[in-house]
Amino acid sequence: MTDPTHPLLQTIDRRRADLIALCQALVRIPTLNPPGRCYREVCDMLAARLQPAGWTVTLIRATGAIGDSDAFPRWNLIARQDSGRAGDCVHFNSHHDVVEVGHGWTRDPFGAELDGDRIYGRGTCDMKGGLAASIIAAEAFIATTPDWRGSIEISATADEESGGYGGVAYLAERGHFAPDRVQHVIIPEPLHKDRICLGHRGVWWAEVETHGRIAHGSMPFLGDSAIRHMGAVLAEIEETLYPLLATRQTAMPVVPEGARQSTLNINSIHGGESEPPAGYSGLPAPCVADRCRIILDRRFLIEEAVDEVKAELRAVLERVKSRRSTFSYEIRDLFEVAPTMTDRDAPVVRSTAAAIERVLGKVADYVVSPGTYDQKHIDRIGRLKNCIAYGPGLLHLAHQPDEWVGVQDMVDSAKVMALVLDDLLGG
Ligand SMILES: [Zn+2]
Repeated sequence: MTDPTHPLLQTIDRRRADLIALCQALVRIPTLNPPGRCYREVCDMLAARLQPAGWTVTLIRATGAIGDSDAFPRWNLIARQDSGRAGDCVHFNSHHDVVEVGHGWTRDPFGAELDGDRIYGRGTCDMKGGLAASIIAAEAFIATTPDWRGSIEISATADEESGGYGGVAYLAERGHFAPDRVQHVIIPEPLHKDRICLGHRGVWWAEVETHGRIAHGSMPFLGDSAIRHMGAVLAEIEETLYPLLATRQTAMPVVPEGARQSTLNINSIHGGESEPPAGYSGLPAPCVADRCRIILDRRFLIEEAVDEVKAELRAVLERVKSRRSTFSYEIRDLFEVAPTMTDRDAPVVRSTAAAIERVLGKVADYVVSPGTYDQKHIDRIGRLKNCIAYGPGLLHLAHQPDEWVGVQDMVDSAKVMALVLDDLLGG
């Protein structure tokens, strides 16, 4: 149960104002992605805090990664503190980029205004509040535990919002998340202070194109409409694939609950003549569509294999083909990520669950994210399985207007993170 007299927890309570100020300072640097602004500034700001306090700080530009350019360089920071005593390394990884502001704000998106218990601004919840909490947790732990062992790393990485290729993927490819270097990873994404996120569903993006033959629109029988072919594909997806996906339920504790089944979104459809350029005021030309394309976003479960997921779509298209003599199609793979779920008795999970119980006086919830985040790179490239997402903030506020993070939530999750350090690296 809650033990407010623990010196580590008292230290974090005393650093509440520092935690607020750090979160505000991070939010006031508009690290917008796209295109990837102010990445160097945010890394420099963190380096200026951590380096004088004994952290070894490395700034790494993801040169040549997707998105990296001289105009918008992809800067990442890794800070490491070694105790000088043998032990594990606990790594906190936060992305420093934020998504566009969008419309509907009543607060200054980069003002980081403190109002009651809330700090408002783009990135407060996703996830500069979590980054600030992890830094305060590590600093408080080191200050109160002179005989700690092992090492602590804090990273602030680029481009999570656009796939993480200029951030965690780049670092993982260079061995920064290798299991002989890092043993425990916590990603302070806004899953809320009482929830441990074990992983995410899988994703497969694909483009399907149907082919036709162009002809004059007044004599469509002389051509072959790719749009009509695609209509047949969509009808087959509605009639057979959606009902099938609805029957696939997962044992993964995905939130929200609607995502506990396989899902499919049709992101876009384009067929026939392209949209006229802006300013064109004429009529369209009468043509039979010679091609039509859809982009599919298929999210799959740990119980499903990606090959089966792909074969299932191919089967849909083959059924349509068997009924339409001139039907032909192509499927192009765009992107895929395997589902991942850390074991509930992995050390970092057990330790975080115990800390949540101690700080909040309640049993931790275990969840899985419907979409992917940087854990995918740590799992697949880094081959590190002992990884979770845990941090302050309400997930539904991410990417919204008037995004905010609760100060008490940041304080509580900083306490949880500090107790995890105490458990894994305490003297
Ligand atoms: Zn995030």
